[in-house]
Amino acid sequence: MSWEDNVRRVVPYTPGEQPRIKNLIKLNTNECPYPPAPQVAEKLKSINYEDLRLYPDPQASALASAISGYYHVPMDQVFVGVGSDDVISMAFMAFFNSDRPILFPDVTYSFYDVWANLHGIPFERVPLDCDFKLVREGFLKENGGIIFPNPNAPTGIYEDISFVEDIVKNNPDVVVIVDEAYIDFGGKSALPLIDKYENLLIVQTFSKSRAMAGMRIGYAFGSKKLIGYLQDVKFSFNSYTMNRPSLEVGAAALQDDEYFKDVCGKIIKTRERVKGRLRELGFDFTDSMANFIFARHRTIPGKDIAGDLRLKGIIVRRWDADRISDYLRISIGTDEEMDKLLIALKEIVA
Ligand SMILES: *Cc1c(COP(=O)(O)O)cnc(C)c1O
Repeated sequence: MSWEDNVRRVVPYTPGEQPRIKNLIKLNTNECPYPPAPQVAEKLKSINYEDLRLYPDPQASALASAISGYYHVPMDQVFVGVGSDDVISMAFMAFFNSDRPILFPDVTYSFYDVWANLHGIPFERVPLDCDFKLVREGFLKENGGIIFPNPNAPTGIYEDISFVEDIVKNNPDVVVIVDEAYIDFGGKSALPLIDKYENLLIVQTFSKSRAMAGMRIGYAFGSKKLIGYLQDVKFSFNSYTMNRPSLEVGAAALQDDEYFKDVCGKIIKTRERVKGRLRELGFDFTDSMANFIFARHRTIPGKDIAGDLRLKGIIVRRWDADRISDYLRISIGTDEEMDKLLIALKEIVA
């Protein structure tokens, strides 16, 4: 007998690397290439360090009410957490307690199986079709809950609200979580559906479109009942998940909608321009509606391209996984960064 027999052993999620190399073009973790809204800078400057001796508001009211106001959703239907990773992990704990397996796509955010394993939740992967699209029928079998991102990651493929509604409507006995981390880059949120379906949780984040991955702010919307259950889990876990600066800075970030829309618009424009150039260079890719492009060269293995890019000071993300090992997930950077990427790729594929 050893103490190690009683250790919960898990295989952790591997985040994209955050190297400290100067002048690196970092296109591997879908961060925003532009700074957060200017109000964030002002708010940061006005934060009194002396206040840090005090615990933050356990209800996170400043942030929750700003989100509530921005999205026109009552406060008691808003939940906030330390990035959407925190929100989703708590939602797994709160809602996925069936003996039946939860369902998620076979190619998707690779944190889902990690959380399922951590929380001891059985799961089944639902295969995407040959075009990497979600398959409706796959989500209509018996299950203990459902989660999928929309747009899906790392494919970037967006499904219409009617697709989401179809899945929710046909799964009234379980909670369906829609992870909308990338919804601001051209998709339409399924948020209005929370008025119709008590079992639907919509999760979003400040990390991508609001350029605040470093602050760790995520949030969710659902029926009053659903959010109540989520709050109960949160308050059984840690009363003070959100720190004081995040609460204030997060609320400030929502004040400048024009800036927000401008940043999203720029990223979408760059994405579409880069798609055209990648096609000329011999790449195939999905029609991403996110802040990244998921692309494969017609002849050169993904591993080789990623390695060559790295030598040129550009990092992208790829996985040694079934079906997608030749694909590169390229985050959308500034136009200047993407031009450097395109020049490097042109040399590599020549
Ligand atoms: C980035 C990402 C998240 C997590 O974002 P946070 O930084 O924790 O808010 C969640 N889901 C998907 C699909 C993502 O790509």
